[in-house]
Amino acid sequence: MKQASEVQKKDTIEKVVIIGAGPAGLTAAYELSKAGLPSTVVEKDSIVGGLARTVNYNGYRFDIGGHRFFTKVSAVENMWEEVLGEDFLTCKRLSRIYYNKSFFYYPFRLPNAVLRLGIWNSFLVVASYMKSQFLPKLPEDTFDKWVSNRFGNRLYELFFKTYTEKVWGIPCSEISAEWAAQRIKGLSLMQALRNTLLKGQNSDKEAVIKTLIDSFQYPRLGPGMMWETVADSVTGNGSELLLNSDVRKIHINNGKVERIEIAQNGETKVLTGSHFISSMPMRELVEKIEPPVAEEVRLAARNLKYRDFLTVSLIIDETDLFPDNWIYIHDPDVKLGRVQNFKNWSKEMVPEKGKTCLGLEYFCFEGDGLWNMSDSDLIELGKKELEKIGLADVSLVTDGTVVRMPKAYPVYDSHYKDSLATIRSYLEGVSNLQLVGRNGMHKYNNQDHSMLTAMLAVKNILGESYDLWQVNAEQEYHEEVKAEEKASIREIESLSSTQPKVPEPIAQKAGSEADQVLVSAFASLDKFAFAVSVGIVSAIVVFIATIFLIIKGGPNVGANLGLLSQYFAGYSVSIKGALIGFAYTFFWGFIFGWLFAYLRNVSTGFFIFKIKKERELSSFRNFIDYI
Ligand SMILES: Cc1cc2nc3c(=O)[nH]c(=O)nc-3n(C[C@H](O)[C@H](O)[C@H](O)COP(=O)(O)OP(=O)(O)OC[C@H]3O[C@@H](n4cnc5c(N)ncnc54)[C@H](O)[C@@H]3O)c2cc1C
Repeated sequence: MKQASEVQKKDTIEKVVIIGAGPAGLTAAYELSKAGLPSTVVEKDSIVGGLARTVNYNGYRFDIGGHRFFTKVSAVENMWEEVLGEDFLTCKRLSRIYYNKSFFYYPFRLPNAVLRLGIWNSFLVVASYMKSQFLPKLPEDTFDKWVSNRFGNRLYELFFKTYTEKVWGIPCSEISAEWAAQRIKGLSLMQALRNTLLKGQNSDKEAVIKTLIDSFQYPRLGPGMMWETVADSVTGNGSELLLNSDVRKIHINNGKVERIEIAQNGETKVLTGSHFISSMPMRELVEKIEPPVAEEVRLAARNLKYRDFLTVSLIIDETDLFPDNWIYIHDPDVKLGRVQNFKNWSKEMVPEKGKTCLGLEYFCFEGDGLWNMSDSDLIELGKKELEKIGLADVSLVTDGTVVRMPKAYPVYDSHYKDSLATIRSYLEGVSNLQLVGRNGMHKYNNQDHSMLTAMLAVKNILGESYDLWQVNAEQEYHEEVKAEEKASIREIESLSSTQPKVPEPIAQKAGSEADQVLVSAFASLDKFAFAVSVGIVSAIVVFIATIFLIIKGGPNVGANLGLLSQYFAGYSVSIKGALIGFAYTFFWGFIFGWLFAYLRNVSTGFFIFKIKKERELSSFRNFIDYI
């Protein structure tokens, strides 16, 4: 974290240089511009928007994966609305899963699922679910076992296995169970408890959550419209945007970035500045530092891995192919992972009414077989697979194009945390450089997270003191932090449940922390100890009451305790009776205490089980969206 003393005040800021014109870089430029500070944004590509760009192919616009706009952070939502105004649309969501020649609504709808699966298969799904509840696969250390134990092996095979393996390129048996467990943790234990205890009072909130799943916001001309408008706004206010400008060297001297070298149209240019914000992939940033960093840091950077992505866009001579925004392809017989129908995100993504543009998404590694295929072969593959799943008549495909997107997903393998720690500890010594965004910080997060890190980086330049690495994590606040800043940090923390999750390798500890908290909050009573305590306490009460009456003057004084003899044979208000009463009440107190503890344990056990199952089943609703 930058110390407040290290951060220069506004009047001493000479120039801010921002690397990358994706959501993070452009948000930083926008916020600086609003504060009256022009900046220079350096972008190696010919267009802005980074991973959230919209590609324009002969007037057909498409995203790198459909980009839903959704955030819990008001500063981000405000910026989207401020920039897009009337062009910020609310879209109804419709998405399905294609599996075994059938389409299943996703999130699932029971009648549709039963109809598609058939009665016999639905029965097998239920039977497999029941089996998983009684005979879970242990130890529960991998993703496949975790999901099978929650939803049954059949549902795992049908709806999770193939798609997860397509996205991440590794078998589910090599992914940590902790990754899946995070989703349920993300739902918040307190929330689950509150929902259960205050049933009925949450209907408004539940309606909002349902709406967020069933609809989303989207710019009229795709996410690129947002970032093109921001780029126009900042350049209109005096900032500089250098496209086709690849940062090649970052010169550091005396703990500060002095200058960067960029390659622009075959020429090398030098840019100086007082502050630098970088959203370029961390691995590349470290490799470009001059003089070269210590071997240990270089090695750490080289250890950061990515999953890559390519889209085959096909233009089809059909007005309405299918109503979905996107379809998940779970069929193992095709490599295709997801199909986007951009017309259904916004009509204006397609320039000709009678045509449709589909984005066929493939997950791959840079340099693998898919990545290296020629564009024409990829278009042929796309057509073949589209035909196979019956989504379109490929004789009507009139044109197609391919966009490869390296470093689409930062990978969280067994080295990444150590690598990040090494790189961060080195970069903490560079006082005028802040890392922001997705690959900039090697965090698998959405636009809103990237934008927020950029907003906070600008606040730091303007004299505040935020730890950008704490975005998503618990944070201690300084006493002097103002109320609205606290609120904004709380918003930052609330982001975590809305961000996608990345698989962790199996070495991670399995099991949900939330479950442990839940179990300890409702720890079972020790039946024997509770029974003895109740027995002793009630026996002492009867004993003391009897002695008290004896001291006060015999059985006729005060309460008629002698009536106890009807229940406790041999009891009387006497020393002997006190001892008999002690023994009887201990016995009955013990029995009562034991039964009470037993019933309480059974009912709280059932309560915990019910909350757990509700949490698990509600997570099933949008589990795949976050793979
Ligand atoms: C398939 C897919 C689907 C997604 N869906 C959603 C969604 O539905 N909703 C959502 O909110 N988010 C979604 N995201 C995430 C979103 O795209 C990212 O969070 C966001 O784009 C990250 O912004 P960024 O500025 O940090 O990084 P980037 O978008 O990666 O921008 C970094 C920029 O730096 C530039 N750069 C890199 N190296 C250099 C260099 N050497 N010199 C100069 N410039 C350089 C790059 O060209 C790029 O423009 C999705 C991402 C993917 C891949």
